[in-house]
Amino acid sequence: METKYIFVTGGVVSSLGKGIISSSLACLLKARGYRVTIQKFDPYINIDPGTLNPYEHGECYVTVDGHEADLDLGHYERFTNTPTTRANNVTTGRIYQSVINKERRGDYLGKTVQIIPHITDEIKHNVKLLGNTGNFDFVITEIGGTVGDIESTPFLEAVRQLRWELGRNALCIHLTYVPYIHAAKELKTKPTQHSVKQLQHVGIQPDILVLRTEHDIPAGMRRKIAQFCNVAPDAVIQSIDVPSIYEVPLTMHAQHLDEIVLRLTGEPVKGEPQMDRWLTFLNKMKSAEKTVTIGLVGKYVELQDAYKSINESLFQAATYNDRKLSLRYIHSEKLTDDNVDELLSPLDGVIVAPGFGQRGIEGKFVALKWCREHDVPTFGICLGMQCMVIEFARNVLGLPEANSTEMNPATPDNVIDLMEEQKSISNLGGTMRLGAYDCELRPGSRAAQAYGTTHVSERHRHRFEFNNDYRARFEEAGMQCVGENPKSHLVEVVEIPALRWFVGTQYHPEYSSTVENPGPLFLDFVKAAVAYGEERQSK
Ligand code: GLN
Repeated sequence: METKYIFVTGGVVSSLGKGIISSSLACLLKARGYRVTIQKFDPYINIDPGTLNPYEHGECYVTVDGHEADLDLGHYERFTNTPTTRANNVTTGRIYQSVINKERRGDYLGKTVQIIPHITDEIKHNVKLLGNTGNFDFVITEIGGTVGDIESTPFLEAVRQLRWELGRNALCIHLTYVPYIHAAKELKTKPTQHSVKQLQHVGIQPDILVLRTEHDIPAGMRRKIAQFCNVAPDAVIQSIDVPSIYEVPLTMHAQHLDEIVLRLTGEPVKGEPQMDRWLTFLNKMKSAEKTVTIGLVGKYVELQDAYKSINESLFQAATYNDRKLSLRYIHSEKLTDDNVDELLSPLDGVIVAPGFGQRGIEGKFVALKWCREHDVPTFGICLGMQCMVIEFARNVLGLPEANSTEMNPATPDNVIDLMEEQKSISNLGGTMRLGAYDCELRPGSRAAQAYGTTHVSERHRHRFEFNNDYRARFEEAGMQCVGENPKSHLVEVVEIPALRWFVGTQYHPEYSSTVENPGPLFLDFVKAAVAYGEERQSK
Protein backbone atom coordinates (compact mmCIF):
# COMPACT_ATOMS: atom_id res chain seq x y z
CA MET A 1 0.00 0.00 0.00
CA GLU A 2 1.03 3.63 -0.42
CA THR A 3 2.17 5.30 2.78
CA LYS A 4 -0.59 7.28 4.49
CA TYR A 5 0.25 10.44 6.39
CA ILE A 6 -1.76 11.49 9.42
CA PHE A 7 -1.16 14.93 10.86
CA VAL A 8 -2.08 15.68 14.45
CA THR A 9 -2.45 19.33 15.42
CA GLY A 10 -3.62 20.94 18.63
CA GLY A 11 -5.64 24.00 19.51
CA VAL A 12 -7.04 26.09 22.41
CA VAL A 13 -4.38 25.14 24.98
CA SER A 14 -1.19 23.09 25.16
CA SER A 15 -0.78 19.87 27.19
CA LEU A 16 -3.88 18.26 25.70
CA GLY A 17 -2.08 15.00 25.14
CA LYS A 18 -1.47 15.00 21.38
CA GLY A 19 1.31 12.52 22.06
CA ILE A 20 -1.04 10.11 23.83
CA ILE A 21 -3.71 10.39 21.11
CA SER A 22 -1.08 9.85 18.39
CA SER A 23 0.35 6.90 20.33
CA SER A 24 -3.11 5.41 20.90
CA LEU A 25 -3.99 5.62 17.23
CA ALA A 26 -0.64 4.06 16.32
CA CYS A 27 -1.25 1.31 18.87
CA LEU A 28 -4.63 0.50 17.30
CA LEU A 29 -3.35 0.56 13.71
CA LYS A 30 -0.43 -1.63 14.69
CA ALA A 31 -2.85 -4.04 16.35
CA ARG A 32 -4.61 -4.20 12.99
CA GLY A 33 -1.40 -5.37 11.36
CA TYR A 34 -0.17 -2.09 9.88
CA ARG A 35 3.40 -0.85 10.14
CA VAL A 36 3.19 2.48 11.93
CA THR A 37 5.61 5.15 13.09
CA ILE A 38 5.04 8.47 14.83
CA GLN A 39 7.17 11.55 14.50
CA LYS A 40 7.10 14.87 16.29
CA PHE A 41 7.89 18.30 14.90
CA ASP A 42 8.79 20.76 17.63
CA PRO A 43 8.58 24.45 16.74
CA TYR A 44 11.39 25.65 19.03
CA ILE A 45 14.79 26.75 17.76
CA ASN A 46 16.99 24.43 19.83
CA ILE A 47 18.47 21.77 17.55
CA ASP A 48 17.19 19.13 19.97
CA PRO A 49 16.04 19.08 23.63
CA GLY A 50 19.42 17.75 24.80
CA THR A 51 20.50 21.20 25.96
CA LEU A 52 17.16 22.05 27.63
CA ASN A 53 16.93 21.60 31.35
CA PRO A 54 14.07 19.50 32.75
CA TYR A 55 12.31 22.62 34.06
CA GLU A 56 11.88 23.70 30.45
CA HIS A 57 11.00 20.49 28.78
CA GLY A 58 10.73 17.54 31.18
CA GLU A 59 12.78 14.45 30.49
CA CYS A 60 15.15 14.24 27.57
CA TYR A 61 14.43 10.94 25.84
CA VAL A 62 17.17 9.08 23.95
CA THR A 63 16.62 6.98 20.83
CA VAL A 64 18.54 3.83 19.93
CA ASP A 65 20.56 5.75 17.34
CA GLY A 66 21.62 8.30 19.93
CA HIS A 67 19.32 11.22 19.31
CA GLU A 68 18.29 13.37 22.28
CA ALA A 69 14.57 13.69 21.77
CA ASP A 70 11.26 14.99 23.04
CA LEU A 71 9.69 12.88 25.76
CA ASP A 72 6.68 12.15 23.54
CA LEU A 73 8.92 9.70 21.67
CA GLY A 74 8.93 7.69 24.88
CA HIS A 75 5.15 7.42 24.68
CA TYR A 76 5.39 6.44 21.02
CA GLU A 77 7.71 3.57 21.92
CA ARG A 78 5.80 2.49 25.03
CA PHE A 79 2.54 2.33 23.05
CA THR A 80 3.82 0.83 19.80
CA ASN A 81 6.74 -1.27 21.03
CA THR A 82 8.68 0.02 18.00
CA PRO A 83 11.96 1.93 18.34
CA THR A 84 12.15 5.51 17.14
CA THR A 85 15.17 7.24 15.62
CA ARG A 86 16.58 10.68 14.96
CA ALA A 87 14.14 11.02 12.04
CA ASN A 88 11.19 10.81 14.46
CA ASN A 89 11.88 14.17 16.10
CA VAL A 90 12.64 17.34 14.18
CA THR A 91 12.81 20.91 15.49
CA THR A 92 12.66 24.28 13.81
CA GLY A 93 16.35 24.56 14.71
CA ARG A 94 17.20 21.40 12.76
CA ILE A 95 15.19 22.60 9.75
CA TYR A 96 16.88 26.00 9.71
CA GLN A 97 20.32 24.50 10.31
CA SER A 98 19.92 22.25 7.32
CA VAL A 99 18.62 25.06 5.07
CA ILE A 100 21.41 27.41 6.16
CA ASN A 101 24.04 24.71 5.56
CA LYS A 102 22.65 24.22 2.05
CA GLU A 103 22.70 27.96 1.45
CA ARG A 104 26.37 28.14 2.54
CA ARG A 105 27.23 25.26 0.22
CA GLY A 106 25.62 27.14 -2.64
CA ASP A 107 22.89 24.55 -3.19
CA TYR A 108 20.27 27.23 -3.87
CA LEU A 109 22.18 28.55 -6.90
CA GLY A 110 22.00 32.22 -6.02
CA LYS A 111 18.30 32.29 -5.20
CA THR A 112 16.87 34.25 -2.27
CA VAL A 113 16.31 31.69 0.51
CA GLN A 114 12.86 32.11 2.08
CA ILE A 115 10.48 30.50 4.54
CA ILE A 116 8.29 29.53 1.62
CA PRO A 117 9.41 27.49 -0.28
CA HIS A 118 12.79 26.63 1.27
CA ILE A 119 11.88 26.11 4.91
CA THR A 120 8.53 24.49 4.06
CA ASP A 121 10.22 22.20 1.50
CA GLU A 122 12.74 21.15 4.14
CA ILE A 123 9.86 20.39 6.53
CA LYS A 124 8.05 18.40 3.84
CA HIS A 125 11.23 16.48 3.06
CA ASN A 126 11.52 15.56 6.76
CA VAL A 127 7.85 14.60 7.02
CA LYS A 128 8.31 12.11 4.19
CA LEU A 129 11.70 10.77 5.27
CA LEU A 130 10.29 7.86 7.28
CA GLY A 131 7.52 7.16 4.76
CA ASN A 132 10.07 7.02 1.94
CA THR A 133 11.96 4.18 3.63
CA GLY A 134 9.13 1.87 2.60
CA ASN A 135 9.06 0.54 6.16
CA PHE A 136 5.76 2.11 7.17
CA ASP A 137 2.13 2.01 6.07
CA PHE A 138 1.18 4.93 8.31
CA VAL A 139 3.32 7.86 9.35
CA ILE A 140 1.69 9.89 12.09
CA THR A 141 3.13 13.39 12.39
CA GLU A 142 2.46 15.34 15.54
CA ILE A 143 2.91 19.09 15.17
CA GLY A 144 4.06 20.49 18.51
CA GLY A 145 2.62 23.71 19.91
CA THR A 146 -0.83 25.17 19.41
CA VAL A 147 -2.51 26.46 16.24
CA GLY A 148 -2.03 30.22 16.12
CA ASP A 149 1.52 30.17 17.51
CA ILE A 150 3.88 32.18 15.34
CA GLU A 151 6.44 29.39 15.60
CA SER A 152 4.23 26.65 14.17
CA THR A 153 3.09 28.59 11.08
CA PRO A 154 5.70 27.14 8.64
CA PHE A 155 4.85 23.61 9.82
CA LEU A 156 1.14 24.19 9.22
CA GLU A 157 1.86 25.60 5.78
CA ALA A 158 3.87 22.45 5.00
CA VAL A 159 0.95 20.32 6.24
CA ARG A 160 -1.44 22.31 4.02
CA GLN A 161 0.74 21.70 0.96
CA LEU A 162 1.22 18.02 1.75
CA ARG A 163 -2.49 17.42 2.19
CA TRP A 164 -3.05 18.93 -1.21
CA GLU A 165 -0.27 16.86 -2.81
CA LEU A 166 -1.09 13.58 -1.09
CA GLY A 167 -4.86 13.72 -1.51
CA ARG A 168 -6.53 10.72 0.10
CA ASN A 169 -3.20 9.52 1.48
CA ALA A 170 -3.22 12.30 4.07
CA LEU A 171 -5.60 13.45 6.76
CA CYS A 172 -5.61 15.82 9.69
CA ILE A 173 -6.72 15.15 13.24
CA HIS A 174 -7.19 18.28 15.32
CA LEU A 175 -7.20 18.06 19.09
CA THR A 176 -9.00 20.75 21.08
CA TYR A 177 -10.29 21.38 24.57
CA VAL A 178 -13.92 21.66 25.65
CA PRO A 179 -13.91 23.48 28.98
CA TYR A 180 -16.55 23.05 31.66
CA ILE A 181 -17.62 26.35 33.23
CA HIS A 182 -18.56 25.50 36.79
CA ALA A 183 -20.54 28.67 37.48
CA ALA A 184 -22.78 28.02 34.45
CA LYS A 185 -22.58 24.21 34.81
CA GLU A 186 -21.97 24.04 31.08
CA LEU A 187 -19.50 22.64 28.60
CA LYS A 188 -18.40 25.24 26.07
CA THR A 189 -17.72 24.53 22.39
CA LYS A 190 -16.75 28.04 21.30
CA PRO A 191 -12.99 27.60 21.85
CA THR A 192 -13.12 24.53 19.59
CA GLN A 193 -15.00 26.45 16.91
CA HIS A 194 -12.44 29.26 17.08
CA SER A 195 -9.55 26.84 16.98
CA VAL A 196 -10.90 25.07 13.89
CA LYS A 197 -11.49 28.48 12.24
CA GLN A 198 -7.86 29.30 12.89
CA LEU A 199 -6.80 26.07 11.26
CA GLN A 200 -9.10 26.72 8.29
CA HIS A 201 -7.61 30.19 8.08
CA VAL A 202 -4.22 28.65 7.27
CA GLY A 203 -5.87 26.38 4.73
CA ILE A 204 -6.28 23.17 6.69
CA GLN A 205 -9.66 21.52 7.09
CA PRO A 206 -9.50 18.90 9.87
CA ASP A 207 -11.00 15.50 9.03
CA ILE A 208 -11.31 14.32 12.62
CA LEU A 209 -11.73 16.30 15.83
CA VAL A 210 -10.69 14.87 19.16
CA LEU A 211 -12.14 16.86 22.04
CA ARG A 212 -10.34 16.73 25.36
CA THR A 213 -12.80 17.07 28.19
CA GLU A 214 -13.32 16.35 31.85
CA HIS A 215 -17.08 15.74 31.38
CA ASP A 216 -19.06 13.66 28.93
CA ILE A 217 -19.93 15.75 25.85
CA PRO A 218 -23.56 15.05 24.85
CA ALA A 219 -24.19 13.70 21.34
CA GLY A 220 -26.16 16.83 20.41
CA MET A 221 -23.24 19.04 21.30
CA ARG A 222 -20.90 16.90 19.21
CA ARG A 223 -23.27 17.16 16.26
CA LYS A 224 -23.26 20.92 16.67
CA ILE A 225 -19.46 20.98 16.62
CA ALA A 226 -19.48 18.74 13.52
CA GLN A 227 -21.84 21.12 11.77
CA PHE A 228 -19.91 24.27 12.64
CA CYS A 229 -16.57 22.75 11.77
CA ASN A 230 -17.35 20.87 8.51
CA VAL A 231 -16.48 17.51 10.05
CA ALA A 232 -18.54 14.29 9.75
CA PRO A 233 -20.56 13.79 12.97
CA ASP A 234 -18.99 10.38 13.75
CA ALA A 235 -15.53 11.94 13.33
CA VAL A 236 -16.07 14.17 16.35
CA ILE A 237 -14.58 12.08 19.14
CA GLN A 238 -14.26 12.86 22.78
CA SER A 239 -11.22 12.09 24.86
CA ILE A 240 -12.47 12.16 28.41
CA ASP A 241 -10.06 11.88 31.35
CA VAL A 242 -9.32 8.25 32.23
CA PRO A 243 -7.36 6.93 35.24
CA SER A 244 -4.46 5.69 33.11
CA ILE A 245 -3.03 6.81 29.77
CA TYR A 246 -2.86 3.12 28.79
CA GLU A 247 -6.66 3.04 28.60
CA VAL A 248 -6.80 5.71 25.89
CA PRO A 249 -6.38 3.27 22.94
CA LEU A 250 -9.53 1.50 24.11
CA THR A 251 -11.55 4.69 24.57
CA MET A 252 -10.46 5.75 21.06
CA HIS A 253 -11.36 2.36 19.60
CA ALA A 254 -14.77 2.44 21.32
CA GLN A 255 -15.45 5.57 19.26
CA HIS A 256 -14.04 3.96 16.08
CA LEU A 257 -11.07 6.31 15.64
CA ASP A 258 -9.04 3.57 13.92
CA GLU A 259 -11.92 2.65 11.60
CA ILE A 260 -12.57 6.28 10.67
CA VAL A 261 -8.88 6.73 9.80
CA LEU A 262 -8.94 3.60 7.61
CA ARG A 263 -12.14 4.67 5.90
CA LEU A 264 -10.87 8.20 5.20
CA THR A 265 -7.58 6.94 3.78
CA GLY A 266 -9.30 4.37 1.58
CA GLU A 267 -8.15 1.28 3.47
CA PRO A 268 -10.50 -1.68 3.96
CA VAL A 269 -12.00 -1.91 7.44
CA LYS A 270 -11.78 -5.56 8.40
CA GLY A 271 -12.07 -7.32 11.76
CA GLU A 272 -10.84 -5.97 15.05
CA PRO A 273 -7.42 -4.87 16.32
CA GLN A 274 -5.54 -7.72 18.05
CA MET A 275 -4.96 -6.22 21.47
CA ASP A 276 -4.49 -9.39 23.57
CA ARG A 277 -1.23 -8.41 25.24
CA TRP A 278 -2.45 -4.86 25.81
CA LEU A 279 -5.65 -6.14 27.40
CA THR A 280 -3.72 -8.55 29.62
CA PHE A 281 -1.74 -5.58 30.87
CA LEU A 282 -4.89 -3.50 31.47
CA ASN A 283 -6.57 -6.38 33.30
CA LYS A 284 -3.57 -6.75 35.56
CA MET A 285 -3.56 -3.00 36.12
CA LYS A 286 -7.21 -2.97 37.13
CA SER A 287 -7.17 -6.10 39.26
CA ALA A 288 -4.07 -5.22 41.32
CA GLU A 289 -5.05 -4.73 44.94
CA LYS A 290 -1.81 -4.70 46.87
CA THR A 291 0.66 -1.85 46.58
CA VAL A 292 4.42 -1.68 46.17
CA THR A 293 5.98 1.53 47.48
CA ILE A 294 9.03 2.81 45.65
CA GLY A 295 10.99 5.96 46.47
CA LEU A 296 12.62 7.97 43.70
CA VAL A 297 15.54 10.03 44.95
CA GLY A 298 16.25 12.96 42.65
CA LYS A 299 16.45 16.72 42.44
CA TYR A 300 13.55 17.37 40.06
CA VAL A 301 10.88 15.76 42.21
CA GLU A 302 8.46 18.67 41.83
CA LEU A 303 8.29 18.12 38.07
CA GLN A 304 6.05 15.30 37.00
CA ASP A 305 7.69 14.97 33.59
CA ALA A 306 11.35 15.05 34.65
CA TYR A 307 11.60 11.27 35.19
CA LYS A 308 8.79 10.26 32.84
CA SER A 309 10.32 7.07 31.46
CA ILE A 310 11.40 5.86 34.90
CA ASN A 311 7.88 6.45 36.24
CA GLU A 312 6.32 4.56 33.35
CA SER A 313 8.84 1.70 33.56
CA LEU A 314 8.12 1.35 37.28
CA PHE A 315 4.39 1.44 36.64
CA GLN A 316 4.69 -1.28 34.00
CA ALA A 317 6.89 -3.39 36.28
CA ALA A 318 4.51 -2.96 39.24
CA THR A 319 1.56 -3.96 37.03
CA TYR A 320 3.30 -7.12 35.81
CA ASN A 321 4.11 -7.90 39.45
CA ASP A 322 0.35 -7.56 40.20
CA ARG A 323 0.85 -4.47 42.30
CA LYS A 324 -0.38 -0.91 42.27
CA LEU A 325 2.53 1.51 42.23
CA SER A 326 2.90 4.02 45.01
CA LEU A 327 5.73 6.26 43.89
CA ARG A 328 7.18 8.64 46.46
CA TYR A 329 9.45 11.41 45.35
CA ILE A 330 12.31 12.04 47.74
CA HIS A 331 13.99 15.38 47.24
CA SER A 332 17.72 14.68 47.21
CA GLU A 333 18.52 18.22 48.42
CA LYS A 334 16.43 17.70 51.53
CA LEU A 335 17.69 14.24 52.47
CA THR A 336 20.08 14.20 55.45
CA ASP A 337 21.40 11.70 57.99
CA ASP A 338 18.79 13.08 60.39
CA ASN A 339 15.69 12.41 58.27
CA VAL A 340 16.80 9.50 56.09
CA ASP A 341 15.44 6.87 58.46
CA GLU A 342 12.00 8.45 58.57
CA LEU A 343 11.86 9.05 54.79
CA LEU A 344 13.24 5.75 53.52
CA SER A 345 12.08 3.16 56.05
CA PRO A 346 8.47 3.00 54.70
CA LEU A 347 9.80 2.10 51.24
CA ASP A 348 9.96 -1.34 49.62
CA GLY A 349 12.59 -0.17 47.15
CA VAL A 350 14.61 2.90 46.22
CA ILE A 351 15.64 4.28 42.83
CA VAL A 352 18.41 6.84 42.64
CA ALA A 353 17.81 9.00 39.61
CA PRO A 354 20.03 10.14 36.74
CA GLY A 355 21.18 13.73 36.63
CA PHE A 356 23.89 16.27 36.06
CA GLY A 357 25.85 18.54 38.37
CA GLN A 358 26.44 18.96 42.06
CA ARG A 359 22.98 20.00 43.29
CA GLY A 360 21.37 17.33 45.46
CA ILE A 361 24.29 14.93 45.13
CA GLU A 362 25.03 14.63 48.87
CA GLY A 363 21.45 13.50 49.51
CA LYS A 364 21.96 10.70 47.00
CA PHE A 365 24.98 9.48 49.00
CA VAL A 366 22.94 9.64 52.22
CA ALA A 367 20.19 7.54 50.60
CA LEU A 368 22.62 5.01 49.15
CA LYS A 369 24.55 4.52 52.38
CA TRP A 370 21.29 3.96 54.24
CA CYS A 371 19.98 1.55 51.59
CA ARG A 372 23.23 -0.40 51.49
CA GLU A 373 23.42 -0.69 55.26
CA HIS A 374 19.73 -1.62 55.60
CA ASP A 375 19.78 -3.98 52.62
CA VAL A 376 16.86 -2.34 50.82
CA PRO A 377 16.34 -3.18 47.11
CA THR A 378 18.12 -0.32 45.36
CA PHE A 379 18.48 0.64 41.73
CA GLY A 380 20.90 3.35 40.60
CA ILE A 381 20.52 4.72 37.10
CA CYS A 382 23.34 6.59 35.35
CA LEU A 383 24.28 9.32 37.87
CA GLY A 384 22.53 7.06 40.42
CA MET A 385 24.96 4.26 39.55
CA GLN A 386 27.91 6.66 39.69
CA CYS A 387 26.76 7.74 43.16
CA MET A 388 26.59 4.07 44.21
CA VAL A 389 30.24 3.73 43.22
CA ILE A 390 31.29 6.94 45.00
CA GLU A 391 29.41 6.09 48.19
CA PHE A 392 30.99 2.63 48.24
CA ALA A 393 34.46 4.13 47.70
CA ARG A 394 33.99 6.63 50.52
CA ASN A 395 32.41 4.39 53.11
CA VAL A 396 33.65 0.88 52.29
CA LEU A 397 36.98 1.39 50.54
CA GLY A 398 37.87 4.17 52.98
CA LEU A 399 38.47 6.89 50.39
CA PRO A 400 36.64 9.83 52.00
CA GLU A 401 37.32 12.24 49.15
CA ALA A 402 36.34 9.86 46.36
CA ASN A 403 34.21 11.62 43.80
CA SER A 404 33.34 12.06 40.17
CA THR A 405 35.48 14.63 38.39
CA GLU A 406 32.14 16.13 37.28
CA MET A 407 31.60 17.22 40.88
CA ASN A 408 35.20 17.78 41.95
CA PRO A 409 37.82 17.92 39.17
CA ALA A 410 40.59 17.89 41.80
CA THR A 411 39.46 14.79 43.71
CA PRO A 412 42.39 12.53 44.70
CA ASP A 413 40.19 9.46 44.07
CA ASN A 414 38.46 9.93 40.74
CA VAL A 415 36.46 6.71 40.88
CA ILE A 416 34.16 8.27 38.27
CA ASP A 417 36.05 10.16 35.58
CA LEU A 418 35.51 11.84 32.24
CA MET A 419 35.56 9.36 29.34
CA GLU A 420 38.71 9.63 27.23
CA GLU A 421 36.77 10.57 24.07
CA GLN A 422 35.02 13.37 25.97
CA LYS A 423 38.21 15.17 26.95
CA SER A 424 38.57 17.17 23.75
CA ILE A 425 34.87 18.09 23.46
CA SER A 426 33.70 21.59 24.35
CA ASN A 427 30.28 21.79 22.65
CA LEU A 428 27.37 20.68 24.82
CA GLY A 429 24.81 19.72 22.15
CA GLY A 430 24.67 16.06 21.13
CA THR A 431 28.21 15.29 22.30
CA MET A 432 27.67 12.81 25.13
CA ARG A 433 27.97 9.04 24.79
CA LEU A 434 24.50 8.62 23.38
CA GLY A 435 22.29 5.79 22.21
CA ALA A 436 22.42 2.02 22.36
CA TYR A 437 25.66 0.18 23.14
CA ASP A 438 26.25 -3.51 23.73
CA CYS A 439 26.84 -4.78 27.20
CA GLU A 440 28.15 -8.21 28.23
CA LEU A 441 26.85 -9.41 31.57
CA ARG A 442 28.66 -11.76 33.91
CA PRO A 443 26.89 -15.14 33.89
CA GLY A 444 25.04 -15.73 37.14
CA SER A 445 24.92 -12.03 38.07
CA ARG A 446 21.62 -10.46 39.19
CA ALA A 447 21.49 -8.45 36.01
CA ALA A 448 22.09 -11.50 33.79
CA GLN A 449 19.41 -13.41 35.69
CA ALA A 450 16.96 -10.54 35.31
CA TYR A 451 17.52 -10.28 31.56
CA GLY A 452 17.73 -14.04 31.07
CA THR A 453 20.75 -13.44 28.81
CA THR A 454 24.32 -12.18 29.00
CA HIS A 455 24.17 -10.02 25.85
CA VAL A 456 22.11 -6.86 26.09
CA SER A 457 21.96 -3.50 24.39
CA GLU A 458 20.70 -0.44 26.24
CA ARG A 459 20.74 3.33 25.72
CA HIS A 460 23.20 5.78 27.23
CA ARG A 461 23.46 9.48 27.92
CA HIS A 462 26.57 10.38 29.87
CA ARG A 463 30.07 11.87 29.78
CA PHE A 464 31.60 10.26 32.85
CA GLU A 465 32.44 6.61 33.51
CA PHE A 466 33.59 4.16 36.14
CA ASN A 467 37.38 4.45 36.45
CA ASN A 468 38.74 0.97 35.67
CA ASP A 469 41.94 1.68 37.68
CA TYR A 470 39.85 1.08 40.79
CA ARG A 471 38.02 -1.99 39.53
CA ALA A 472 40.01 -4.64 41.46
CA ARG A 473 39.60 -2.78 44.75
CA PHE A 474 35.83 -2.56 44.34
CA GLU A 475 35.51 -6.21 43.41
CA GLU A 476 37.64 -7.36 46.35
CA ALA A 477 35.46 -5.33 48.70
CA GLY A 478 32.19 -6.73 47.31
CA MET A 479 30.97 -4.38 44.59
CA GLN A 480 31.17 -6.33 41.32
CA CYS A 481 31.43 -4.85 37.85
CA VAL A 482 29.11 -7.35 36.20
CA GLY A 483 28.42 -5.57 32.92
CA GLU A 484 30.88 -4.09 30.48
CA ASN A 485 31.03 -2.90 26.93
CA PRO A 486 32.85 -5.62 24.94
CA LYS A 487 34.84 -3.11 22.85
CA SER A 488 35.70 -0.26 25.17
CA HIS A 489 35.54 -2.22 28.46
CA LEU A 490 33.58 0.63 30.01
CA VAL A 491 31.76 -0.60 33.10
CA GLU A 492 28.02 -0.60 32.42
CA VAL A 493 26.60 -2.44 35.44
CA VAL A 494 27.71 -2.75 39.07
CA GLU A 495 26.07 -4.77 41.81
CA ILE A 496 26.63 -5.97 45.35
CA PRO A 497 25.75 -9.67 45.24
CA ALA A 498 25.76 -9.96 49.04
CA LEU A 499 22.71 -7.68 49.21
CA ARG A 500 19.09 -8.41 48.27
CA TRP A 501 19.06 -6.28 45.15
CA PHE A 502 21.63 -3.54 44.77
CA VAL A 503 22.25 -2.81 41.09
CA GLY A 504 23.48 0.26 39.27
CA THR A 505 23.48 0.76 35.51
CA GLN A 506 25.50 3.33 33.63
CA TYR A 507 22.84 3.03 30.93
CA HIS A 508 19.18 4.03 31.08
CA PRO A 509 17.02 0.90 30.93
CA GLU A 510 13.91 3.09 31.30
CA TYR A 511 14.11 4.22 27.67
CA SER A 512 13.41 0.75 26.29
CA SER A 513 10.69 -0.44 28.68
CA THR A 514 7.33 -0.72 26.90
CA VAL A 515 3.89 -2.06 27.81
CA GLU A 516 4.40 -5.19 25.72
CA ASN A 517 8.09 -5.53 26.47
CA PRO A 518 8.70 -4.25 30.01
CA GLY A 519 12.30 -3.64 31.10
CA PRO A 520 13.72 -6.81 32.73
CA LEU A 521 15.70 -4.89 35.36
CA PHE A 522 12.59 -2.95 36.41
CA LEU A 523 10.58 -6.17 36.62
CA ASP A 524 13.27 -7.80 38.74
CA PHE A 525 13.79 -4.75 40.94
CA VAL A 526 10.06 -4.43 41.66
CA LYS A 527 9.85 -8.19 42.27
CA ALA A 528 12.62 -7.84 44.87
CA ALA A 529 10.84 -4.81 46.38
CA VAL A 530 7.56 -6.77 46.62
CA ALA A 531 9.36 -9.67 48.33
CA TYR A 532 11.11 -7.30 50.72
CA GLY A 533 7.79 -5.59 51.55
CA GLU A 534 6.14 -8.91 52.29
CA GLU A 535 9.06 -10.08 54.37
CA ARG A 536 8.79 -6.97 56.54
CA GLN A 537 5.03 -7.32 56.88
CA SER A 538 5.31 -10.89 58.08
CA LYS A 539 7.73 -9.85 60.85
N1 GLN B 1 26.25 13.47 34.86
C1 GLN B 1 26.62 12.12 34.61
C2 GLN B 1 27.48 11.96 33.37
O1 GLN B 1 27.49 12.82 32.53
C3 GLN B 1 25.41 11.22 34.56
C4 GLN B 1 24.46 11.52 33.44
C5 GLN B 1 23.10 10.94 33.61
O2 GLN B 1 22.68 10.59 34.73
N2 GLN B 1 22.34 10.84 32.53
O3 GLN B 1 28.14 10.96 33.21
